[in-house]
Amino acid sequence: MMNIIFAMIKDGSKLMKINPSRVLILGFLPFLTSLLFLSFTNNSATPTYRIKTIVIDAGHGGKAVGALGKYSSEKKVTLQVALRLGKAITKSFPDIKVLYTRTSDVFVENASRTNLANKNKADLFISIHCNSMPASKANRTSIKGVESFVAGFGRIDEQDVAIRENADILLEKDYKTKYGGYDPKDPESMIIFSLMKNQFRDQSIKLATLIQNEYISSGRLDRGVKEQNILILQRAGMPAILTEIGFISNPEEERYINSEAGQDEITQNIVAALHNYKKQVEIE
Ligand SMILES: [Zn+2]
Repeated sequence: MMNIIFAMIKDGSKLMKINPSRVLILGFLPFLTSLLFLSFTNNSATPTYRIKTIVIDAGHGGKAVGALGKYSSEKKVTLQVALRLGKAITKSFPDIKVLYTRTSDVFVENASRTNLANKNKADLFISIHCNSMPASKANRTSIKGVESFVAGFGRIDEQDVAIRENADILLEKDYKTKYGGYDPKDPESMIIFSLMKNQFRDQSIKLATLIQNEYISSGRLDRGVKEQNILILQRAGMPAILTEIGFISNPEEERYINSEAGQDEITQNIVAALHNYKKQVEIE
């Protein structure tokens, strides 16, 4: 971004033959004035912050089926849990507007999911997914537990969940042009959206941790809060988390995440975490 600004200033100075430092000062003058204005007018007002909008993202959908269990698919479970969560949030927090990235079994491109949140200036982005062990692994059916992710910006090597959750973009039209040739299956790939540090990292970790705590209190096995290069989280302009609600490859957890009681417990866990999160971040 700064490079673009400098390039613009450079171009402008060449064309108009004006001293670059003058362009710099003139260019930033409105910004400086507004800063001064704000510092004089906002001194007496107490800042307030309330969570107004939450985007709930049901992972995968349509031709992107996600992980498969013995009898169920990730895209079906995530949609059920997302809709249930939306209803529970509306019931607990009537003032919060809930938006969904999908409400039926349709394919939704990665960018349109975050665009929805960014355009609506959402306060939180919550993505629902199911975990899975690859069929080749001997421990495929025994591994279980819950883990939640926030955007990471490191190398993608060994980031199994990032590679799996980013793979849907291969199903998008012209994905190579859109993502600059980025291949989520290439372990050497460096993420291309990691230019900026995620300014919402602390709040994202806060929410992810609170959600994990609630899962643990319901007796779930804790796999922790992790940072991975998950595209959908990196593009969100607000605190964003991706929660893996259980392993669809584990028969016991597949039953749980498909059951009404299990889905209800998961959504209540997330709602309880939101209560605590609100207490920590909202300013009355
Ligand atoms: Zn997924």
